[in-house]
Amino acid sequence: MHLLYPFAKRFIAGEDLKTALCNVQSLSRHGYLSTVDVLGEDTHTKGQALAAQKEYLDLLKRMKDQTFPLDLSIKLTQMGLHIDPDFCRRNVETILQASGHHTVRFDMEGSNTTQDILYEGIELHRQYPNLGLVLQAYLHRTESDIGRVIDEGISTRLCKGAYHEPEHIALQSMDNIRENFFRQARRLLTSGFQPAIATHDEVLLEEILKFVKVEHINANRFFFEMLYGVRRDLQKDLLGKGYRVRVYVPFGKSWLPYTLRRLAERKENILFVLKSVFRETFGLGRLQGLNL
Ligand SMILES: Cc1cc2nc3c(=O)[nH]c(=O)nc-3n(C[C@H](O)[C@H](O)[C@H](O)COP(=O)(O)OP(=O)(O)OC[C@H]3O[C@@H](n4cnc5c(N)ncnc54)[C@H](O)[C@@H]3O)c2cc1C
Repeated sequence: MHLLYPFAKRFIAGEDLKTALCNVQSLSRHGYLSTVDVLGEDTHTKGQALAAQKEYLDLLKRMKDQTFPLDLSIKLTQMGLHIDPDFCRRNVETILQASGHHTVRFDMEGSNTTQDILYEGIELHRQYPNLGLVLQAYLHRTESDIGRVIDEGISTRLCKGAYHEPEHIALQSMDNIRENFFRQARRLLTSGFQPAIATHDEVLLEEILKFVKVEHINANRFFFEMLYGVRRDLQKDLLGKGYRVRVYVPFGKSWLPYTLRRLAERKENILFVLKSVFRETFGLGRLQGLNL
Protein backbone atom coordinates (compact mmCIF):
# COMPACT_ATOMS: atom_id res chain seq x y z
CA MET A 1 0.00 0.00 0.00
CA HIS A 2 3.03 2.35 0.29
CA LEU A 3 2.60 2.82 -3.46
CA LEU A 4 -0.25 5.17 -2.58
CA TYR A 5 2.01 7.45 -0.53
CA PRO A 6 2.96 9.84 -3.39
CA PHE A 7 -0.77 10.40 -3.84
CA ALA A 8 -1.49 10.60 -0.09
CA LYS A 9 1.18 13.29 0.37
CA ARG A 10 -0.92 15.70 -1.65
CA PHE A 11 -3.74 15.44 0.87
CA ILE A 12 -1.95 15.18 4.22
CA ALA A 13 0.01 17.86 6.05
CA GLY A 14 2.77 15.53 7.21
CA GLU A 15 3.14 12.40 9.29
CA ASP A 16 4.05 14.20 12.55
CA LEU A 17 2.79 17.09 14.67
CA LYS A 18 5.80 19.32 14.01
CA THR A 19 5.33 19.25 10.23
CA ALA A 20 1.57 19.65 10.55
CA LEU A 21 1.98 22.72 12.79
CA CYS A 22 4.37 24.32 10.30
CA ASN A 23 1.63 23.91 7.70
CA VAL A 24 -1.03 25.32 10.03
CA GLN A 25 1.18 28.33 10.75
CA SER A 26 1.90 28.86 7.10
CA LEU A 27 -1.83 28.73 6.31
CA SER A 28 -2.46 31.23 9.09
CA ARG A 29 0.20 33.62 7.73
CA HIS A 30 -1.67 33.53 4.41
CA GLY A 31 -5.00 34.32 6.09
CA TYR A 32 -6.53 30.82 6.36
CA LEU A 33 -7.95 29.12 9.43
CA SER A 34 -7.37 25.41 10.04
CA THR A 35 -9.26 22.46 11.38
CA VAL A 36 -6.71 19.83 12.34
CA ASP A 37 -7.37 16.10 12.17
CA VAL A 38 -5.12 13.45 13.71
CA LEU A 39 -5.59 10.69 11.13
CA GLY A 40 -7.09 7.47 12.37
CA GLU A 41 -10.49 5.86 12.84
CA ASP A 42 -12.19 2.76 14.09
CA THR A 43 -9.61 1.89 16.75
CA HIS A 44 -9.81 -1.62 18.19
CA THR A 45 -7.84 -1.20 21.41
CA LYS A 46 -7.93 1.29 24.26
CA GLY A 47 -4.19 1.82 23.78
CA GLN A 48 -4.72 3.04 20.20
CA ALA A 49 -7.52 5.38 21.31
CA LEU A 50 -5.40 6.83 24.13
CA ALA A 51 -2.46 7.33 21.77
CA ALA A 52 -4.71 9.34 19.44
CA GLN A 53 -6.06 11.33 22.38
CA LYS A 54 -2.48 12.16 23.42
CA GLU A 55 -1.75 13.52 19.93
CA TYR A 56 -4.67 15.95 20.29
CA LEU A 57 -3.55 16.96 23.78
CA ASP A 58 0.02 17.55 22.53
CA LEU A 59 -1.37 19.62 19.72
CA LEU A 60 -3.39 21.76 22.15
CA LYS A 61 -0.33 22.21 24.37
CA ARG A 62 1.69 23.43 21.39
CA MET A 63 -1.17 25.76 20.38
CA LYS A 64 -1.50 27.34 23.82
CA ASP A 65 0.44 30.49 22.96
CA GLN A 66 -1.11 30.93 19.52
CA THR A 67 -3.69 33.66 19.43
CA PHE A 68 -5.58 32.42 16.35
CA PRO A 69 -8.45 30.04 17.08
CA LEU A 70 -8.08 26.48 15.91
CA ASP A 71 -10.72 23.90 15.11
CA LEU A 72 -9.97 20.24 15.93
CA SER A 73 -11.69 17.55 13.86
CA ILE A 74 -12.09 14.38 15.88
CA LYS A 75 -13.50 10.98 14.97
CA LEU A 76 -15.36 9.29 17.79
CA THR A 77 -14.54 5.83 16.43
CA GLN A 78 -10.87 6.82 16.83
CA MET A 79 -11.57 7.77 20.46
CA GLY A 80 -13.03 4.31 21.13
CA LEU A 81 -16.76 4.61 20.35
CA HIS A 82 -16.91 0.99 19.23
CA ILE A 83 -14.85 -0.26 22.18
CA ASP A 84 -16.86 1.36 24.97
CA PRO A 85 -18.97 4.54 24.64
CA ASP A 86 -18.23 5.66 28.23
CA PHE A 87 -14.49 5.28 27.68
CA CYS A 88 -14.87 7.25 24.43
CA ARG A 89 -16.78 10.03 26.17
CA ARG A 90 -14.12 10.34 28.90
CA ASN A 91 -11.39 10.59 26.25
CA VAL A 92 -13.22 13.32 24.38
CA GLU A 93 -14.04 15.21 27.58
CA THR A 94 -10.34 15.36 28.47
CA ILE A 95 -9.70 16.98 25.09
CA LEU A 96 -12.64 19.37 25.54
CA GLN A 97 -11.35 20.39 28.99
CA ALA A 98 -7.93 21.18 27.49
CA SER A 99 -9.31 22.96 24.42
CA GLY A 100 -9.52 26.54 25.78
CA HIS A 101 -10.71 28.95 23.09
CA HIS A 102 -10.39 26.35 20.31
CA THR A 103 -13.32 24.39 18.82
CA VAL A 104 -13.59 20.61 19.05
CA ARG A 105 -15.68 19.24 16.19
CA PHE A 106 -16.87 15.65 15.80
CA ASP A 107 -16.38 14.51 12.20
CA MET A 108 -19.33 12.54 10.87
CA GLU A 109 -18.59 8.95 9.91
CA GLY A 110 -20.50 6.01 8.37
CA SER A 111 -24.28 5.85 8.95
CA ASN A 112 -23.92 3.11 11.59
CA THR A 113 -22.45 5.80 13.86
CA THR A 114 -24.59 8.86 13.02
CA GLN A 115 -27.05 8.49 15.88
CA ASP A 116 -24.34 7.91 18.50
CA ILE A 117 -22.16 10.80 17.31
CA LEU A 118 -25.13 13.17 17.26
CA TYR A 119 -26.30 12.02 20.68
CA GLU A 120 -22.83 12.42 22.25
CA GLY A 121 -22.38 15.80 20.55
CA ILE A 122 -25.70 17.23 21.72
CA GLU A 123 -25.21 15.97 25.29
CA LEU A 124 -21.63 17.24 25.60
CA HIS A 125 -22.41 20.57 23.93
CA ARG A 126 -24.59 21.52 26.92
CA GLN A 127 -21.44 21.47 29.05
CA TYR A 128 -18.90 22.47 26.40
CA PRO A 129 -20.31 25.18 24.10
CA ASN A 130 -17.13 25.08 21.96
CA LEU A 131 -18.15 21.65 20.62
CA GLY A 132 -19.12 21.51 16.95
CA LEU A 133 -20.71 18.83 14.75
CA VAL A 134 -20.85 17.75 11.11
CA LEU A 135 -23.90 16.71 9.07
CA GLN A 136 -23.92 15.04 5.66
CA ALA A 137 -26.26 16.31 2.93
CA TYR A 138 -26.63 12.86 1.34
CA LEU A 139 -28.37 11.32 4.39
CA HIS A 140 -32.19 11.33 4.39
CA ARG A 141 -32.18 11.99 8.14
CA THR A 142 -30.18 15.23 7.81
CA GLU A 143 -33.38 17.18 7.06
CA SER A 144 -34.48 16.66 10.66
CA ASP A 145 -30.98 16.61 12.22
CA ILE A 146 -30.34 20.14 10.91
CA GLY A 147 -33.39 21.36 12.85
CA ARG A 148 -31.95 19.77 15.97
CA VAL A 149 -28.50 21.38 15.73
CA ILE A 150 -30.08 24.76 14.96
CA ASP A 151 -32.33 24.51 18.03
CA GLU A 152 -29.35 23.52 20.19
CA GLY A 153 -27.16 26.35 18.79
CA ILE A 154 -24.37 23.95 17.75
CA SER A 155 -21.85 25.14 15.18
CA THR A 156 -22.24 22.64 12.33
CA ARG A 157 -20.24 21.81 9.23
CA LEU A 158 -22.31 20.72 6.24
CA CYS A 159 -20.62 18.38 3.75
CA LYS A 160 -21.95 16.03 1.07
CA GLY A 161 -20.81 12.83 2.82
CA ALA A 162 -17.88 10.57 1.96
CA TYR A 163 -19.02 7.02 2.81
CA HIS A 164 -20.84 4.52 0.62
CA GLU A 165 -24.41 4.31 1.89
CA PRO A 166 -27.40 2.36 0.54
CA GLU A 167 -30.42 3.99 -1.09
CA HIS A 168 -32.73 3.70 1.92
CA ILE A 169 -30.22 5.70 3.99
CA ALA A 170 -28.75 8.19 1.55
CA LEU A 171 -29.48 10.06 -1.68
CA GLN A 172 -27.52 8.56 -4.56
CA SER A 173 -27.56 11.01 -7.45
CA MET A 174 -25.29 14.07 -7.44
CA ASP A 175 -28.20 16.33 -8.49
CA ASN A 176 -30.27 15.24 -5.49
CA ILE A 177 -27.33 15.54 -3.09
CA ARG A 178 -26.57 19.04 -4.39
CA GLU A 179 -30.21 20.08 -4.10
CA ASN A 180 -30.38 18.86 -0.50
CA PHE A 181 -27.01 20.45 0.31
CA PHE A 182 -28.24 23.82 -0.89
CA ARG A 183 -31.55 23.48 0.99
CA GLN A 184 -29.83 22.57 4.28
CA ALA A 185 -27.10 25.19 3.76
CA ARG A 186 -29.78 27.89 3.44
CA ARG A 187 -31.28 26.81 6.77
CA LEU A 188 -27.89 26.82 8.50
CA LEU A 189 -26.88 30.14 7.00
CA THR A 190 -30.07 31.90 8.05
CA SER A 191 -30.66 30.28 11.46
CA GLY A 192 -27.57 28.29 12.47
CA PHE A 193 -24.71 29.24 14.78
CA GLN A 194 -21.40 29.78 12.94
CA PRO A 195 -22.00 27.05 10.33
CA ALA A 196 -19.29 25.84 7.94
CA ILE A 197 -20.06 25.19 4.28
CA ALA A 198 -17.65 22.39 3.35
CA THR A 199 -17.52 21.81 -0.39
CA HIS A 200 -15.35 22.40 -3.47
CA ASP A 201 -18.38 22.12 -5.75
CA GLU A 202 -18.40 25.29 -7.85
CA VAL A 203 -22.09 24.97 -8.74
CA LEU A 204 -22.98 24.92 -5.05
CA LEU A 205 -20.51 27.63 -4.11
CA GLU A 206 -21.96 29.93 -6.76
CA GLU A 207 -25.52 29.36 -5.47
CA ILE A 208 -24.40 29.94 -1.89
CA LEU A 209 -22.52 33.14 -2.73
CA LYS A 210 -25.65 34.46 -4.50
CA PHE A 211 -27.79 33.47 -1.52
CA VAL A 212 -25.64 35.18 1.12
CA LYS A 213 -25.54 38.32 -0.99
CA VAL A 214 -29.30 38.49 -1.51
CA GLU A 215 -29.98 37.69 2.16
CA HIS A 216 -27.29 40.13 3.39
CA ILE A 217 -25.61 37.41 5.46
CA ASN A 218 -22.39 38.87 6.80
CA ALA A 219 -19.12 37.02 6.08
CA ASN A 220 -18.40 36.77 9.81
CA ARG A 221 -21.50 34.62 10.40
CA PHE A 222 -20.19 31.49 8.66
CA PHE A 223 -17.10 29.73 7.23
CA PHE A 224 -16.21 28.08 3.97
CA GLU A 225 -14.21 24.89 4.50
CA MET A 226 -12.10 22.89 2.06
CA LEU A 227 -9.68 20.01 2.26
CA TYR A 228 -5.91 20.44 2.41
CA GLY A 229 -4.51 20.02 -1.10
CA VAL A 230 -7.87 20.32 -2.88
CA ARG A 231 -8.87 23.32 -5.05
CA ARG A 232 -6.42 25.82 -3.61
CA ASP A 233 -7.54 28.16 -6.40
CA LEU A 234 -11.06 28.28 -4.93
CA GLN A 235 -9.70 28.67 -1.39
CA LYS A 236 -7.69 31.71 -2.49
CA ASP A 237 -10.57 33.15 -4.46
CA LEU A 238 -12.99 32.99 -1.52
CA LEU A 239 -10.40 34.45 0.85
CA GLY A 240 -9.80 37.28 -1.64
CA LYS A 241 -13.52 37.99 -1.69
CA GLY A 242 -13.39 38.56 2.07
CA TYR A 243 -14.80 35.23 3.32
CA ARG A 244 -13.33 33.17 6.13
CA VAL A 245 -11.80 29.98 4.74
CA ARG A 246 -10.92 27.09 7.03
CA VAL A 247 -8.74 24.32 5.67
CA TYR A 248 -9.12 20.72 6.89
CA VAL A 249 -5.55 19.73 7.79
CA PRO A 250 -5.07 16.00 8.41
CA PHE A 251 -1.78 14.61 9.65
CA GLY A 252 -0.39 11.37 11.02
CA LYS A 253 0.69 7.91 10.06
CA SER A 254 -2.78 6.37 9.64
CA TRP A 255 -3.36 8.05 6.31
CA LEU A 256 -4.71 5.09 4.34
CA PRO A 257 -8.52 5.18 4.96
CA TYR A 258 -8.60 8.98 4.50
CA THR A 259 -6.56 8.68 1.30
CA LEU A 260 -8.80 5.95 -0.08
CA ARG A 261 -11.85 8.19 0.41
CA ARG A 262 -10.10 11.01 -1.50
CA LEU A 263 -9.11 8.53 -4.19
CA ALA A 264 -12.69 7.35 -4.63
CA GLU A 265 -13.98 10.91 -5.07
CA ARG A 266 -12.30 11.52 -8.44
CA LYS A 267 -11.48 9.22 -11.32
CA GLU A 268 -8.53 11.53 -12.13
CA ASN A 269 -7.06 10.56 -8.75
CA ILE A 270 -7.12 6.90 -9.71
CA LEU A 271 -5.33 7.77 -12.96
CA PHE A 272 -2.72 9.74 -10.97
CA VAL A 273 -2.01 6.70 -8.80
CA LEU A 274 -1.87 4.34 -11.78
CA LYS A 275 0.60 6.66 -13.55
CA SER A 276 2.87 6.86 -10.46
CA VAL A 277 2.85 3.09 -10.06
CA PHE A 278 3.59 2.63 -13.76
CA ARG A 279 6.48 5.15 -13.66
CA GLU A 280 7.99 3.59 -10.56
CA THR A 281 7.60 0.02 -11.80
CA PHE A 282 9.05 0.66 -15.26
CA GLY A 283 11.60 3.31 -14.30
CA LEU A 284 9.94 6.05 -16.34
CA GLY A 285 10.56 8.88 -13.87
CA ARG A 286 11.25 12.33 -15.41
CA LEU A 287 14.89 12.38 -14.29
CA GLN A 288 15.70 8.88 -15.57
CA GLY A 289 16.90 9.91 -19.02
CA LEU A 290 18.86 12.99 -17.88
CA ASN A 291 22.62 12.76 -18.03
CA LEU A 292 23.43 14.61 -14.76
C1 LIG B 1 -13.62 20.62 5.32
C2 LIG B 1 -14.25 19.31 4.98
C3 LIG B 1 -14.57 18.43 6.00
C4 LIG B 1 -15.20 17.22 5.69
N1 LIG B 1 -15.62 16.41 6.71
C5 LIG B 1 -16.33 15.30 6.43
C6 LIG B 1 -16.92 14.50 7.45
O1 LIG B 1 -16.80 14.78 8.65
N2 LIG B 1 -17.62 13.40 7.08
C7 LIG B 1 -17.80 13.05 5.76
O2 LIG B 1 -18.48 12.06 5.48
N3 LIG B 1 -17.23 13.79 4.78
C8 LIG B 1 -16.52 14.90 5.06
N4 LIG B 1 -15.99 15.65 4.05
C9 LIG B 1 -15.95 15.10 2.66
C10 LIG B 1 -17.19 15.45 1.86
O3 LIG B 1 -18.29 14.75 2.39
C11 LIG B 1 -17.00 15.08 0.38
O4 LIG B 1 -16.76 13.72 0.25
C12 LIG B 1 -15.87 15.83 -0.30
O5 LIG B 1 -15.78 17.14 0.17
C13 LIG B 1 -16.11 15.96 -1.83
O6 LIG B 1 -17.32 16.61 -2.06
P1 LIG B 1 -17.46 18.08 -2.71
O7 LIG B 1 -18.59 18.75 -2.01
O8 LIG B 1 -16.20 18.81 -2.69
O9 LIG B 1 -18.00 17.79 -4.17
P2 LIG B 1 -17.44 16.93 -5.38
O10 LIG B 1 -18.52 17.01 -6.41
O11 LIG B 1 -17.00 15.59 -4.94
O12 LIG B 1 -16.19 17.74 -5.84
C14 LIG B 1 -16.28 19.03 -6.43
C15 LIG B 1 -14.92 19.38 -7.02
O13 LIG B 1 -13.94 19.45 -5.98
C16 LIG B 1 -12.72 18.87 -6.39
N5 LIG B 1 -12.49 17.66 -5.56
C17 LIG B 1 -13.33 17.11 -4.66
N6 LIG B 1 -12.77 16.04 -4.07
C18 LIG B 1 -11.55 15.90 -4.62
C19 LIG B 1 -10.49 14.97 -4.44
N7 LIG B 1 -10.58 13.98 -3.57
N8 LIG B 1 -9.39 15.12 -5.17
C20 LIG B 1 -9.26 16.14 -6.07
N9 LIG B 1 -10.23 17.05 -6.29
C21 LIG B 1 -11.36 16.93 -5.58
C22 LIG B 1 -12.89 18.55 -7.84
O14 LIG B 1 -12.48 19.68 -8.57
C23 LIG B 1 -14.38 18.32 -7.98
O15 LIG B 1 -14.85 18.53 -9.29
C24 LIG B 1 -15.43 16.87 4.33
C25 LIG B 1 -15.10 17.77 3.31
C26 LIG B 1 -14.54 18.98 3.61
C27 LIG B 1 -14.25 19.93 2.49
